[in-house]
Amino acid sequence: MSEQLASPHELEAENATLRTHLAYLIEQAELNHSIMCRHQAFDLEIVGAASFPELIGTIFQSLPAISNLDTVTLALVDKDADIHTVMDKLGVDFASFPELIFVDSEHALGFAPTRLGALTGMPKPQLGPYMAGLHQAMFPHAPAGLQTIAQVPLLRNRRVIGSLNLGSVNPSRFTPTLATDFIEHMASIIAICLENVISNEMLKYIGLTDSLTGVYNRRYIDRRLLEEIGRARRQAYRISCMYIDIDHFKLVNDSVGHQGGDEVLREVASRIKAELRISDALGRFGGEEFVVLLIDADLDSATVVAQRIRASIANIPFELSSGELLPVSVSIGVATLDDFERDHAIEGVAQQLVAQADSALYQAKETGRNRVVSFDD
Ligand code: GH3
Ligand code: MG
Ligand code: MG
Repeated sequence: MSEQLASPHELEAENATLRTHLAYLIEQAELNHSIMCRHQAFDLEIVGAASFPELIGTIFQSLPAISNLDTVTLALVDKDADIHTVMDKLGVDFASFPELIFVDSEHALGFAPTRLGALTGMPKPQLGPYMAGLHQAMFPHAPAGLQTIAQVPLLRNRRVIGSLNLGSVNPSRFTPTLATDFIEHMASIIAICLENVISNEMLKYIGLTDSLTGVYNRRYIDRRLLEEIGRARRQAYRISCMYIDIDHFKLVNDSVGHQGGDEVLREVASRIKAELRISDALGRFGGEEFVVLLIDADLDSATVVAQRIRASIANIPFELSSGELLPVSVSIGVATLDDFERDHAIEGVAQQLVAQADSALYQAKETGRNRVVSFDD
């Protein structure tokens, strides 16, 4: 039996259908190619992020755009709030990242055990309809009409460090049967970048802070002073410096022991801090000496702050964990930067400012302690 030949008309119609189909396939291929390119650009961008805020800022800004999502949130497992504390100290403004969530345990992420997960021991992405009762914790500011979500575990060295949460108003965007290799791959890159940037920030923090009191260390203050002098010259505002030394601290150690002395150091740091503005910087210079940089403060206003610090320490005895009450006082030297000569090397100007505060401190000690002396040349 021979097949009947198609009429030219039929051939033409078939041809047109094939052309349309081909055009559709080309369009899809181009679309996929452009999605892939955008994701590669995204990967490069997050791998290059130099800080925690830069990384999460990129994730929250770029990911919704390139993946056509209506919301993206990120939950981080932060036992003992270490990450939050360090980022806070480094000046991360959490208010500008409402999509960032901290949880105190992996359990709080709410990954349900799955069959596949049971095999690998690790949670798998969970895709499906958005249910407020179940998912609200991961989408605290869920957009109106949120329909489907994907919650993807962030894994590092067989540990769940958080979850990447994607949401769409499209009811067919995330269905339980959708293949997850692509989002798992993306989550693994995000997890590596997060771990990397968090450990870098931790190292930065450790290198710039004093472990006993939690305030900055000398290295930080030295560096910050150079930056501030440069800025003060450009914008013509005043910087003042305080050199603070605990009076007869040797006797404190002798009477309450080294441990008690350490408690006094911590309490002194916290009382100084309570009198400062956030723009000021407090550092422990070693032993029982602290230095404060006051930004945009002239000698008079710095002296007023110094008097407040002195009084806040001397007026209320320190209560140690042993229950013992101990009177403590400090002497403070204050100096102000008045060298706006641009041709003077910043390093020399910085050293001179600290030296002037130190020399005023020496006078405060000489003239009886528990005093504030301002440097005047
Ligand atoms: P002054 O009023 O003249 O400043 O007398 P002072 O006893 O405070 O000064 P001095 O410099 O003679 O003694 C400082 C003491 O601080 C000696 C040292 O044992 C103690 N010290 C230094 N670092 C620490 C520390 O980290 N913890 C404790 N508990 N003591 C420290
Ligand atoms: Mg001293
Ligand atoms: Mg002392």
